[in-house]
Formats: sequence, structure tokens, C-alpha cells
Amino acid sequence: MEEKRLDWFTIPKIDAHIHLMPQDVIEANIGEKFADYGDVSEYIKLMDKYNITTAFIMPFNDPYMLSMDFTLESVHSNLYNMCNMSNGRLYSFADIDIRKNLDKNISELNKIINKTMFLGIKIHPTNTGYPIDGEYYDKIFKWASDNNVLVEIHSYPRTHINDDVCSPSRIKNVIKKYSNLKVSIAHMGGFQYEQLYDINACFNISAILPDYVNEYGIKKTNNILREFGIEKLVFATDYPDSRSLKPDEIYNKYFDILNKMDFTYEEAEKICRYNIMNMIKR
Ligand SMILES: [Zn+2]
Repeated sequence: MEEKRLDWFTIPKIDAHIHLMPQDVIEANIGEKFADYGDVSEYIKLMDKYNITTAFIMPFNDPYMLSMDFTLESVHSNLYNMCNMSNGRLYSFADIDIRKNLDKNISELNKIINKTMFLGIKIHPTNTGYPIDGEYYDKIFKWASDNNVLVEIHSYPRTHINDDVCSPSRIKNVIKKYSNLKVSIAHMGGFQYEQLYDINACFNISAILPDYVNEYGIKKTNNILREFGIEKLVFATDYPDSRSLKPDEIYNKYFDILNKMDFTYEEAEKICRYNIMNMIKR
């Protein structure tokens, strides 16, 4: 049987890591990238253009980015409302605020996590400056492991710092302790990716894909992705954020790059939808 022709521009896909903002935060931050490209209805037009059926909004572990009273509770209600505006196309990850008393943080998580909009928790050690294997996060991981909730960990460490707050070496400490924890690594461990090849997690290519291609070219990047394993790869972009691209360039560049790689249609379906859907199941 002939293989279905693969075009990454048109294949239906989930973008498993994007950023949008509530309207009042956008209005207070005009001129900032996340605000200027953060409007829900504008983003839905992009979803239509690129056949993105669904997208997951990531919080920042920084309530100033998603609320005007700078509280975890408002961040969650804002995320909830943004998802509600999307006709079931936007979902979100829950936030944490490490300035907050840990028990209060956990009780807020307990309150929201059974709402269908919230698919997991986001942990962003670089934004908080707090190491991923530190004590506060440890309690969050325990909660996530006990409740079978997916945790997405930001991992794009500075290249030459092996124990940066989000480095693979620290992530491995967490995974060793919580062997049943469901983990999604955003940005694939940056340029320390080799240390993550053997861990049991899924890996989304948000932010890092064009940066690998700039560093290594298409062929080696393609090999790196295959080394992780098709079953672990997840499509995501980090729109509108990028170290190397303007927001308007991100989707075209991603699909251009992916169209030059050797993935089959069947493999792309796993990367675009099935792998992440398995991970968010509870
Ligand atoms: Zn991001």
C-alpha cells in the first residue's frame, strides 16, 4: 500500500506548548512579545491556517505574566476562561507559585486539577531560579505522582552548566525518586539532550527545534530526534517565544524543517497527536 503523503503544514496536530495571555494583561503590556501575540482569537486564526486542532497553554510559574493581581488563583481562573473561549480547542497546564506556602499551593492544585481544561502541571525552574530537584518542587512531584498528573518540566539549561536549575542531571534525581511520575520535558534538555536519551518521559520539540538546526543542520537534528525514539516525541513550538525566530516565522519554519526530515505519515501522527494524548490520560 502506498504511504500517505506527509505535509507538516496540513497534517492535523496538537501544539503541546504555547503561550497566550488574558486580555487585561495584554492591555497592560502592549509592546511586549507575549502580549502582542497573546490574544486568544488571533491565535485561533493561526490554528485554522495550520490545521492545529488543539493547543496547550503553558503558564510561567510567575503570576505577573498571567494575572493583574498576581495570584495563583487568578492565573488559574484566567487560564480557565481563555480555554472556555476556544470551543474546546485550547487546554492548559496548571501553574505553581513557589512564593506561596506549599500547603496552600497544593490545596489550589487539588481544587482545579479535575476541571477538564487542566491537563497537567508546568514547572519552570529557570523562571523561578529554583532547582528542579529542590525541596519545594519535591512536594509538588509527590502530589503529581500520587494523583497520576503529568508534569511538564522546562529544560533548556545554559549549555555548559551541567547542574543548571533545569539540567538533565537534576531532572534525573527527580525521576529516580518518583519512578511512576509522568514527565514531559519541554525543549528536550537543550544542548544537554544526550543525557536524557534513556529516561522514561515524553519530549516536546518546542523552542529547541530551530536552534538544533542552526547548530547541527537538518540531518543531524533528524538523527537526534530519532535517537529519542518516535514514541517519545511530541510536536510543540513555544509560540510566540523563540530564541532565533520572530513570532510570525515560527510555524512556517517548524513545518519547513520537519518537511525536510525523514518521518513517515504514521510516525508524524504519533508525534503530532497520539503520543501526547497517551501522556495526558488519567
Ligand atoms: Zn514556553
